[in-house]
This record gives sequence, structure tokens and C-alpha cells, in this order.
Amino acid sequence: MNKKKKFFNIIIYFLAFILVFGFVIYAGRFNAFGKFISGIENKTFDIRQNFMLPHKKNNNDIVIIAVDDPSYEYITENFGTWPVPRSFWAKLIKGLEKANPKFIAFDLLFTKRLDTPDKGDLELIEAVKNNKNVYLSMNFDNYPPQIRKPPILPQRLGFDIKNGDVIKNSPYLHFSNCRNAMDELLKVTSNFGFINVTRDEDGIIRYIAPIFYYNGAYYPNLTTLIALKYLNIQPESIYVDKNNNLVLDNKHKIPLNPDGRAIFNWYGKEGTYEHISLWEVDDAINRGDTEYLKQKFENKIIYIGTTVTALADIKSTPVSFMYPGVETHATFLNNILDNNFIKHLSFKADLIISVLICFLIGYCVLKFESVPYSLLCVIQLIIIYLIITVLAMTFFNLWLGIVLPVYSATLILIVSYIAKYLFKSRDYEHTYKLAVTDGLTELYNHRYFQEQMIMNVGSVARYGGSFSLILIDIDFFKKFNDTHGHQSGDAVLRQVAQTIKKNIRTSDIPCRYGGEEMSIILTNTKKEDAITTAKKVWSAIRERKFELADGSWANVTISVGVASMPDNGKTPQELIEFADKCLYKAKQNGRDRVESEI
Ligand code: GH3
Ligand code: MG
Ligand code: MG
Repeated sequence: MNKKKKFFNIIIYFLAFILVFGFVIYAGRFNAFGKFISGIENKTFDIRQNFMLPHKKNNNDIVIIAVDDPSYEYITENFGTWPVPRSFWAKLIKGLEKANPKFIAFDLLFTKRLDTPDKGDLELIEAVKNNKNVYLSMNFDNYPPQIRKPPILPQRLGFDIKNGDVIKNSPYLHFSNCRNAMDELLKVTSNFGFINVTRDEDGIIRYIAPIFYYNGAYYPNLTTLIALKYLNIQPESIYVDKNNNLVLDNKHKIPLNPDGRAIFNWYGKEGTYEHISLWEVDDAINRGDTEYLKQKFENKIIYIGTTVTALADIKSTPVSFMYPGVETHATFLNNILDNNFIKHLSFKADLIISVLICFLIGYCVLKFESVPYSLLCVIQLIIIYLIITVLAMTFFNLWLGIVLPVYSATLILIVSYIAKYLFKSRDYEHTYKLAVTDGLTELYNHRYFQEQMIMNVGSVARYGGSFSLILIDIDFFKKFNDTHGHQSGDAVLRQVAQTIKKNIRTSDIPCRYGGEEMSIILTNTKKEDAITTAKKVWSAIRERKFELADGSWANVTISVGVASMPDNGKTPQELIEFADKCLYKAKQNGRDRVESEI
């Protein structure tokens, strides 16, 4: 490849890159396209999460008391309906406390009643008041104030977070209303957290909000609250750092997306954390089986929630479509305690990776002549990148974008091949031109002349009409060479060729017949018109001056023979012979003339 061509290739590739990335960035601004991209990206995340499951170990200190199908039946059998009287939960708390659990967290809402608390409520209030390790939940929503007056939460539940704008400004973490707990419960404990979940457009839960913003203050997720207590961290000391991490302490950070949410790192399908049926626990409490309770719950973090589909707290997650809501809390806590969240690489970083991959693809396409080989290299490249993304998530909790790099790689592959074939066709044109052109005069060469003769004869024989042939020979050219030198002879040949080109139509085909003889094929041209053209060329030559190698000027003349089909022959040989004879006649008659008859 010569230097000029290489430079041209590089420019084309550079333009292709700008085109592809300009398009990618421009298209990314459109909401629908952005959603399309992030939708597929999320699916690739799900696949990667499932790949990783066998390598993960969950925290065994977290257990779940599940309102499962048998428990649901047990409850309806004993109490007639769900929800159960609150005395049931009071008894459960008292029974569990005998086993010394670390925390008892309710993923159930004890919402306020319109009338005064009944006996069961009072028992629950008493149990919560007496056991500081019991945690309760509330839920934010955006119901209009006509339905429920937005409650003013006690100041002690909320706190300020330094640099918390990422949470405050998030569209996902802002609420205008709240589903409050019973006021009497709020009076006896501050152990309240929020249990909102946010789903993606496809209904799958991938993100969790550690902190919410409501009415001018930040409020913790139920699990964030438990984690802070477990790690002995004051809520006031947590803050958001420059890299958007919610810093709990030196060892525990929750990386937040630009929307203030964190990415779940899943440990397994439903039932990864030990599930103990509510009815079994109640049964053990009724029997006074402290041994069983200790064996199951001593020093454990207990989440109590529903797993039965009828109670509608089943979520879709990347690892399972039937994942109990309560287990998402367990997963979130596990992520905080193990400091094991997934971090998303920024859009900029994804873009840089895409550019690098595209450069490699451009290189593969340009470097390897064979299409299957270069395609194989590109496929290998993409597979290697996909493996890297899985490894990055498995070992470094890094979510490397897949869609953007693969999408731009595909675009660049297409553009590269188009560019490559454009070069190729330019090359082909160039080679073809070389093959049919005479180097000195830049007229068509003898081979092309012969081809065109055959074609024109064939065409006239089949469709009728006529075509003509002009043969030109420079007069006394041997002598001219001897007098002025071979170089001047070459210069004259070039100028004669130019003069011929100038005096014919674009449909006429000027050729170098050989030596100092030239020919013109005139398609669709009758004899009279051919003679006119021949005379035009002849007089143009005799009237002009030719510049010689030394800068001086000289005259030359030509003798011209004309032949036409069908009048003078029916084959290329016959026509050439006729024209040649005319030419001979012109020479005989004193040169410097046009002859068209023999
Ligand atoms: P005539 O008038 O009878 O045609 O005389 P002539 O000398 O031109 O005779 P002829 O056509 O046989 O001579 C051909 C000469 O043309 C021979 C050679 O010196 C010259 N010639 C042929 N090809 C080239 C070329 O490529 N360059 C140069 N400078 N001269 C050529
Ligand atoms: Mg000659
Ligand atoms: Mg001659």
C-alpha cells in the first residue's frame, strides 16, 4: 500500500469512527433509544448474575420466618382470616426473645387504626416497647392528600445526610405521602424503616434504595437501619462521597447510581436464606420449646414476612421470578455486611471501552484480507470481551456495559466493510483502467481496440445500423525521430493523442493501434460522418504546433484511412484491412490527407 493510499484509508476510518460514535451519542439522547439500550443491558446483567450464583456464599446469620402456604392455612384455621390479631405478633416477639436473636425485623405493615387500639394492639405495643431489637416498617407512596393526609414523621426517625443531593434529586426516592404505622407504635420506638421497592420497566427488581427523601429529611430503608445498628454506626455520621458512595464507615460503602439507588448483588434463588415456617415457630412457642427456638434463632437476624403468593409480596428478580419480598431485605443486608454491591461503570468509561474495541475491529478488518478470517477475529474479540465482563462482575463486582460496545462494534464492523469494499472497488477500477490504457498516450490500447471492434461488428450485425473506423499514421515519423530525438517523438505522440481526443465525441473510442499509428472507433456512425470527423482531426493536427523536448516547436502531418461497416467489410479483419488500404493510398498520394476509398 502506498503512503497516499494509507493516509486516505486512515482518514476514511477516522470519519467512520466519528460517524459511528456521533450516531451512538446522538441516538442515546432519545428516550426511547436510551430505554431500549438500558433494557437490553439489564438483561445482560441478569444473565451475568445467574452465571455467578454458584460462586457466592450467603450470610447464614440471616434467617426468615415465612408466612408460607402451610402457615397461611394454619392462620386461617386458628384465626379465621389474615391479618391475624396483633396479640399473635406480641406473643411471637416474646417467644423469640427467649432465643436471644440479634434483631427481629417485621416486613409487615402495622398500619394505624381508625378506632382506639384494641387489646391485641396494646399487647404488640407493649412487646415492641420492651424489646429494643424489634424493627418495624412503613411505606412511602404518592397518594393524594384527599385520600390520606401526608403524615408528619417524628424528627427522630429522619436525619440529614451530607452531600445527599443524589438522593434528594432522584426521581425514584422522592415521595409525597406515607403509609404510617400506628401512632402508638411510633411513640414507643424509633426502630422504623421504609420497605419501598422500585421495579424496572420490565417489572424486575435490580436496584434498592438505601435512603429515601420525604418532607425535607432523609429516612432509612428498614435494612439500612438494621445494618447501622449491627455495625454500631450513628446515622448522623453517614455521608455521600465524591464517587457517589454512601459511606457508612471505613469498611462499608454502598455505591449509588446517579439515581441514588444501589445495585443488588444476588446470592441465590428463593430460599437461599433459611426459611422457617411461621406455624412451626408458633407451635414451638406454644409448646415452650426454647431449645428449638435457640437452635434456630440465637444471635440471628430475623426477618418476618410473607412468602405465600396469595399475600402478594412476591417479586421478580434477575435470579428468580418468584422471589419473596422479605428475602430482598435479607439480600440487601447481606450486601451491606459483606460490602458486596455491584458497581456500574460510568457511561464515559463504557464509551472509552467501545472506542477501544472498535479500533481493534477496524484493525482486524483492515489487516486481514480474507473475510472469514477477519470475521472470526472480530467474533473472538467480542467473545473475549463478554468473558471479561462476566469475570469483572464475578471478581470485582463491576458491571461493564455490554450493549454499547457490542452495538458500536457491530456498526463499525458494517462501516469498516463498506469502507473496505469501497477501497477495493476503487482499486479494481484503477487496475482495469491500467489494463486497457496505453501508458504513453493514455489512449485505449490495442487489446481494447480489438475487443471494441468485435463488439461493434457484433452489434451492427445483430441490430443493423453502422459504425466506422479511422486509422491514423504520422507522416515521416522515422525521420522526425532521427531529426528531433526519440523524446520529442514521444512528446508529439502524446500531443497528437490529445488533439484526437479533443476533436471526437465521447462515444468515440480513441486507441493507440501501435507505434505511431492511432485509431478511432466511431460507434453508430455512418461513413460520411466518419469522413467529417477524420478531416476534422487531420486539419486540427496540421494546423497546430507541437512542443518538443527542448521547448522548441514543430509541425507534423498525418495520413488517414476510413472504413465503415457494413459498406467496407463484415468482420474486424476486413474493416481494418480496408482502412489500412485507404491509409496506404493516402501515403501513395503524397501523405497529409484523408482517404476513404480504395
Ligand atoms: P510514413 O510517412 O511512411 O509513415 O513514414 P514513417 O517514417 O512514419 O514510417 P513508419 O510509419 O513505418 O515508421 C514508424 C516509425 O515511428 C518508426 C519509429 O521510429 C517511430 N515510432 C514508432 N513508435 C514510436 C514511439 O513510441 N515513440 C517514438 N518516438 N517513435 C516511435
Ligand atoms: Mg507507421
Ligand atoms: Mg508513419
